[in-house]
Amino acid sequence: MTAASAAAPVSVAWGAATDVGRRRSLNEDSYLAAPPLFLVADGMGGHQAGEVASATVIEEFARLAGRASLSIAEVQTALRAARHAVETLPDGGGAGAGTTLAGVAIADVDGEGYWLAVNLGDSRTYRLSEGVLEQISVDHSVVQELIDAGQLDAASAARDSRRNVITRAIGAGSDSEADFWMLPAETGDRVLVCSDGLPTEVDDALIDTILREEHHPQAAAERLVREAVAAGGRDNVTVVVVDALSVQTRAGRDRFDTMPSAAAAPDTAAFDEIDGDTLPRARARA
Ligand code: MG
Repeated sequence: MTAASAAAPVSVAWGAATDVGRRRSLNEDSYLAAPPLFLVADGMGGHQAGEVASATVIEEFARLAGRASLSIAEVQTALRAARHAVETLPDGGGAGAGTTLAGVAIADVDGEGYWLAVNLGDSRTYRLSEGVLEQISVDHSVVQELIDAGQLDAASAARDSRRNVITRAIGAGSDSEADFWMLPAETGDRVLVCSDGLPTEVDDALIDTILREEHHPQAAAERLVREAVAAGGRDNVTVVVVDALSVQTRAGRDRFDTMPSAAAAPDTAAFDEIDGDTLPRARARA
C-alpha cells in the first residue's frame, strides 16, 4: 500500500506478511503496518498467552495510526499503556504472557523526516539505505550479550541452545526500558521489521538479495516469509517492509550537517530538539 499525505514527513509504501510456520500450531506474532507505525510483536507464554500479549500491544499502538508523525514521547506513552495492558491481562488469558516489540515510527525533527526505531527483545529492524543493509536494532538476548562479551561468535550463536532466550520484553516479568534510535530518512530507504522466525531461517545475505530483487514491498515481504517457511519454518515468521518514497527536508540546508553520528550524537540539535530522553545506542543500553 502507499500513502502520500501532504503533511507526512516521510511518504511511504509498504507490505506485510505472516505465517505460522511448519512446527507451531499457533501464530503468536502480531504486526501493525499503518503509517506512521510499522511494528512487529512476537508473543511468548503458553496456552495462547503470547498471542494475546502481542495482539494487546499492537492494538495499543494502532490507536496512533493515521497520524502524520510521532514524537518519542508519544511512542513512550503508548509503550507504557501497552505494558500496563499486558501486565493486567486476566489470569488464564495472559498470566506470564509477554511479547517483543520492534519497528519504526515516522518522526518529524525540525521539519525533516526521520525513522524513530524502537526495540524490546529479539525481533529486528534492518535498513537498506544507499546500497547497504544494516541491522538497526540490537537483540536483547542472552546470545547477543555473550557476543558482546566476546564469549561467542555470530556463527556459533545461530546454533546456540540459548538463542531464544531474551533479556527484555513487554510483560513476562520484565520492566526494562526500550532502546530508541533516531535515523534521518533518505528517499529510497527500505526498512525491514521482522520476528526472529525470519533470521532463524534466512541469513542476512539472502535477506539482502530478496530486498534488492523484489521491487514491490508486498512482494518482498511475502517472499521473505516464503523463504523462511521453506527453510524449515521452525517458528512463526512475520515481515513488514516499508519504503521511503519521498522525505521532507528543510529547504536550503544540507541535512548531513546535522545528522547524528555515534561520535556527535549527544550534542546534536536533532536530539536536543526532540526529547531529552533520546539516547544514542551506547547510552540507551546502559
Ligand atoms: Mg519468534
